[in-house]
Amino acid sequence: MVKSLKSAPPQLDRKQEADLRGWINLLDIWRVCANPACDRAGCCRGKPSGCFRQNFSRLPIGMQDCFLALIAAKQDGLPFDDAWAELTRVGLVAELAKWQALVHGSEAAGAVN
Ligand SMILES: [Zn+2]
Repeated sequence: MVKSLKSAPPQLDRKQEADLRGWINLLDIWRVCANPACDRAGCCRGKPSGCFRQNFSRLPIGMQDCFLALIAAKQDGLPFDDAWAELTRVGLVAELAKWQALVHGSEAAGAVN
């Protein structure tokens, strides 16, 4: 079943850290990171598992759901395209688009430095 990320093991191997960094950057999670280095760099600069744990709860609920659904699909061995189609069907891709518009919109407006 779907395992909560909050109960994720504290130690990830190098590959898992790299995967997580990819997700953080892809989903712009670094945008809500408390680590100033991440915000300056525009990507995750910290240890991905640390940044992720700290930032996940700061994301909009729709983004959290989207992320958890993607992870669950991956754990279930569902091909990414199928997972994406399902996320689109239930409206979570729209949540992701809203989040990215918010993130990149605020960049364009110069509201976030
Ligand atoms: Zn970070």
